[in-house]
Amino acid sequence: MATSPPVVSHGGNLQKYFSLDQKGTLIAEYIWIDAEGGTRSKSRTLPEKAYRPEDLPIWNFDGSSTSQAPGDNSDVYLKPVVVFPDPLRLGPNILVLAECWDADGTPNKYNYRHETAKLMEAHAAQIPWFGLEQEYTMLDMNDRPYGWPQNGFPAPQGPYYCGVGAGKVIQRDIVEAHYRACLYAGIKISGTNAEVMPAQWEFQVGPCVGIEMGDELWMARFLLHRIAEDFGVKVSLHPKPIPGDWNGAGLHSNFSTEAMRQEGGMQHIESAIAKLGTRHREHIAVYGVDNEKRLTGRHETGAIDQFTHGVANRGASIRIPRECAAKGYGYFEDRRPASNADPYQITGIMMETIFGPV
Ligand code: ADP
Ligand code: MN
Ligand code: MN
Ligand code: MN
Ligand code: MN
Repeated sequence: MATSPPVVSHGGNLQKYFSLDQKGTLIAEYIWIDAEGGTRSKSRTLPEKAYRPEDLPIWNFDGSSTSQAPGDNSDVYLKPVVVFPDPLRLGPNILVLAECWDADGTPNKYNYRHETAKLMEAHAAQIPWFGLEQEYTMLDMNDRPYGWPQNGFPAPQGPYYCGVGAGKVIQRDIVEAHYRACLYAGIKISGTNAEVMPAQWEFQVGPCVGIEMGDELWMARFLLHRIAEDFGVKVSLHPKPIPGDWNGAGLHSNFSTEAMRQEGGMQHIESAIAKLGTRHREHIAVYGVDNEKRLTGRHETGAIDQFTHGVANRGASIRIPRECAAKGYGYFEDRRPASNADPYQITGIMMETIFGPV
């Protein structure tokens, strides 16, 4: 029945190939977002030089194989938008984040970046900062949280959050590897912690300005899946991987503008929260699939059908950190987004609701 997960370690075998001369070439890994909120990627060889996104070739893939296009018109175009140094291949090699475009010159249905980039540009004077807290769960090859007994459950929650020691946390190596890889790539990863449910972890990216938030979080997600692959571990972004008395996974979204970050900023924070309150349903609609399983009003969440806010209140939709309330300026945290939400959609609707559509 249950097979134990394979232990995959490429490290030793690959090492000698990684020091081979690439003879004046680099490998560009083109990465895009698929129809299921996952990432896909493929590689190509280019002459070695420093590339800006606009210097890189537009490429394509078979969208019928990813449910992103019909079989009779299957080409989807990959338009490079951000280049990162590649922490997996090292050397001159690069990771290329690409937007998906259809053959008729319109953004692909799953290209949420395009509209959000327009909103960010229109409201650039606000200098919007975002910081997203990505929670996720590690699974074994049987889709059981990694390290959990195959039949039965671990001891109840309590010792695991920010836990230290065997039996309290698992697969810390993946977390460490991912942290370093993000730093190498230039992603503004700001921290990590073990979460309340065993096998659940969090990393934070931010503060990032405007469209950079979605770009960097997507690249951090790609790296997490890719590095966990090396360890034979699956990463789930499901908001409620295990029903019952186990915490769900979110994507808390911290936000501020220049005005909010200055003396007297609290009035700007309050007026933004008032606007968010008028569009609760619209926000929930893009804050992740299966989020109703997580936003129950328990396990440090607000209920999905109610908009609430409060200082230091982790059971509210919006939390104003205690320190910001004390100072009278700073930022606020939207606790509603689920772990599987698209950061372009979150940051986009935030700008649209607070500053208006474009
Ligand atoms: P929590 O206490 O909710 O667990 P974390 O420390 O995990 O908070 O995450 C806080 C996030 O808020 C970080 O990603 C950080 O970069 C971000 N952040 C801090 N200050 C600001 C700000 N002024 N505007 C937007 N985001 C901010
Ligand atoms: Mn082919
Ligand atoms: Mn956090
Ligand atoms: Mn958390
Ligand atoms: Mn938080």
